[in-house]
Amino acid sequence: MIPLCIPEVKGSEWEYIKDCLDTNWLSSVGSYVNKFEEDFAKYVKAKKAVVTMNGTAALELALRTLGIGKGDEVIVSSLTFISPVNTIKYVGAEPVFVDICKDTWVMDADKIEELITEKTKAILPVHIYGHPVDMDKIMELAKKYNLYVVEDATESLGSLYKGKATGTIGHIGCYSFNGNKLITTGAGGMLVTNNEKLGERAKYLSTQTKIVLENGAFYHEEIGYNFRMPNILAALGCAQLENIENYIEAKRDHAKLYNNLLKDVRGITLPTEKEGITNINWLYSIVVEDDYYLTRDELIIKLMESGVQSRPFFMAVHKMPPYRECKHGDMAVTNEVVEKGINLPSSVGLLYDDIRKICNIIKQVD
Ligand SMILES: *Cc1c(COP(=O)(O)O)cnc(C)c1O
Repeated sequence: MIPLCIPEVKGSEWEYIKDCLDTNWLSSVGSYVNKFEEDFAKYVKAKKAVVTMNGTAALELALRTLGIGKGDEVIVSSLTFISPVNTIKYVGAEPVFVDICKDTWVMDADKIEELITEKTKAILPVHIYGHPVDMDKIMELAKKYNLYVVEDATESLGSLYKGKATGTIGHIGCYSFNGNKLITTGAGGMLVTNNEKLGERAKYLSTQTKIVLENGAFYHEEIGYNFRMPNILAALGCAQLENIENYIEAKRDHAKLYNNLLKDVRGITLPTEKEGITNINWLYSIVVEDDYYLTRDELIIKLMESGVQSRPFFMAVHKMPPYRECKHGDMAVTNEVVEKGINLPSSVGLLYDDIRKICNIIKQVD
């Protein structure tokens, strides 16, 4: 079986975790926690990074740090892993769904303005499957309407928007280090910001708003949260981050081969890379159009029968029971793309021969 996306462990992971065990620094304070935050901030070129126990916690922390809550609206796309939408609800705010672009599958910045109301407090771009949202337009709208921008850059870690790392363009950016992401800590997340004050507030909220008094007692001025990541997982993160450039190169290399092998297949639309963008293609994805000889779901079964794991695109969140009543714009593109998209195997360790095998199955008309 060729799996969809599995982690790569080739570096100092064992050594750093052993160091935690040998020195008894296992919990959420320790040198690897600080190092992972510093190294990650440096890597994406953000002023401040705050580790969290998972990507969902980073997103919730971002919204709480910005004071988004009851009565507020946050504009988000519907083709996304559900996590960012759930966090909008966790803080008591309401998601408002905007349609996506046909070629990049991320939120359509040109359809946002019509959804902005008095209640809108933030835009939450999710750079799905690796292609960045058109951030210049998002930041322009944010400025015009005085909105916050929280980027979910989980799937675009390694992608660049006009030379900048996704996640560092809005007010706050969030990442997940779940097992299937570009780098993993098993479970984990990160919040980054270029605003020192927001960074400090995020760290404070994520560590139970703990203030240590002179006599060592803990004082809490407001309600805090335990969103921390243990040192032992941060150690894993430090090791993974050391290899990130190799992982990015592998993913881009794989996408190039996929693109070459599939470019002339009738009815298959390939992923894009807009001008000024470097797309990591976190999950290499294609759209199965009506003139392909199989339906999307038939192709998924055919791949599975040949030992290839693939996955349909995320289902539209605005059609899930908890979100059916939420406001949204015209969702025609979302509704179409979610029915036709497929993620193909995208592990860093994928072999060229695997890609050839997968593409041969897609190309072969039975
Ligand atoms: C994986 C993922 C998350 C959630 O991360 P967890 O670490 O599993 O909480 C959030 N957003 C996107 C786009 C993701 O792909």
